[in-house]
Amino acid sequence: MSPPLHHINTSPKPPASADVVVIGGGIIGVFTAYYLAKRGLSVALVEKGRIGAEQSSRNWGWCRQQNRDARELPMASKSLDLWERFAAESGEDTGFHRCGLLYLSNDEAELSRWSSWRDFAKTAGVTTYMLNSRQAAQRGQATGRAWKGGVFSPSDGTADPGKAAPAVAAALIKLGGSVHQNCAARGIEMEGGRVSGVITEAGVIKTRTAVLAGGAWASSFCRQLGIRFPQASIRQSILSVSPVEHRLPDALFTAGVSITRRNDGRYALAISGRARVDVTPQFMRFAPQFVPMFAKRWRSLLPGGLEGIRGGHETLKRWRLDAPTPMERVRILDPKPDLATVRETHRRAVELLPELREARITDAWAGFVDSTPDGVPGIGEVPSIPGFILAAGFSGHGFGIGPGAGHLIADLATGAEPIVDPLPYRPERFSDSAWGKVADF
Ligand SMILES: Cc1cc2nc3c(=O)[nH]c(=O)nc-3n(C[C@H](O)[C@H](O)[C@H](O)COP(=O)(O)OP(=O)(O)OC[C@H]3O[C@@H](n4cnc5c(N)ncnc54)[C@H](O)[C@@H]3O)c2cc1C
Repeated sequence: MSPPLHHINTSPKPPASADVVVIGGGIIGVFTAYYLAKRGLSVALVEKGRIGAEQSSRNWGWCRQQNRDARELPMASKSLDLWERFAAESGEDTGFHRCGLLYLSNDEAELSRWSSWRDFAKTAGVTTYMLNSRQAAQRGQATGRAWKGGVFSPSDGTADPGKAAPAVAAALIKLGGSVHQNCAARGIEMEGGRVSGVITEAGVIKTRTAVLAGGAWASSFCRQLGIRFPQASIRQSILSVSPVEHRLPDALFTAGVSITRRNDGRYALAISGRARVDVTPQFMRFAPQFVPMFAKRWRSLLPGGLEGIRGGHETLKRWRLDAPTPMERVRILDPKPDLATVRETHRRAVELLPELREARITDAWAGFVDSTPDGVPGIGEVPSIPGFILAAGFSGHGFGIGPGAGHLIADLATGAEPIVDPLPYRPERFSDSAWGKVADF
């Protein structure tokens, strides 16, 4: 049930020391390590399973500014440039291209929200075009339907989730960074009041800086260190179908169903926002903080089952540092896709784009999206543990901003001028009594 993912060979034995240790080889961890290595630092990246095998290979691949929350828009814009620059400077292929994203709708309220966002985005220098019904019908020709309107965002694009994280890890290795798969970090060592090492299943790596880019596992890892990081996983399902004869839009959003063309011609199909909530003890613990988020999204959230407990990523238990941890028992979080959603997605997609009737379903999978209460990631040094940088909670839209986030984390780790204002991301906000606005996306 795993989606296609490129494989890279890495070294089994981590080094004895490194300037920075990055925990987690998803898109955030690999870009962080890459930008650190580019600055000449020695970097070790440890990944408990395979590079990119969790959320970073399970997503749609959208790299968008369109409809981004104001707090993330600057990072989204920088990221698009960085995706392009990465390919040029590394020679590695992430599948990124600025194909533009097309949104179509028959709902006046939705169109009005997109129009307000367009006006706001203009103030940030981002151009997107509202489409009238004629233009929407033209761009959405493949649907053969009338539309009240839509949006086209020409500078946005997609990358290939099956290629991207392995490509960045390969570039990191070329720069001299060391990458270790099947190597879980179990904990942190402290000396003189700051990080002095990362304890892995293959030994300790001495370091003064550790970055936790652990996706859905970040909160339980933080709990071992006495850090409260409110995080909730929701399970989203997605499927892919074989190529069809006539070309469909590269990336099309409608409220009913969305499609994304992959580099190999296949299409990924999904229903935006639709997810199952698999209740876990951690979920219950943080639930009060997620009430505003769930209230906003209740229409698309469905009750789940035991997949969250099976995954073990939200355990409340303390683990030992000298024995296998939940991360070594579940190398890859591979939850079951929700078959009812998969069937419904396919039905809607064929109804929207009759051409897809010819296509065969090739894969179906699910991923746990790691959300924070306000839908914005936590990025920054945790004040109680100098040298420990948190970078998680990307809330379902971290793939596209992977390069910008990685750059920012490298900036924070080295004390360089940050590429974007880090304030909206500071992890301390999770312990503030006043809660910020829940992100719109
Ligand atoms: C169905 C779906 C659709 C999505 N669509 C989009 C989209 O179109 N655009 C977009 O921008 N975003 C999208 N997202 C969200 C996006 O995929 C994530 O925000 C992003 O991939 C998060 O990257 P990450 O590196 O933080 O986490 P992950 O990719 O989950 O990586 C975390 C890694 O850390 C490793 N790890 C954890 N703990 C440890 C440890 N202790 N030791 C070693 N390794 C550890 C894990 O094995 C994992 O590989 C989607 C997500 C899903 C599930």
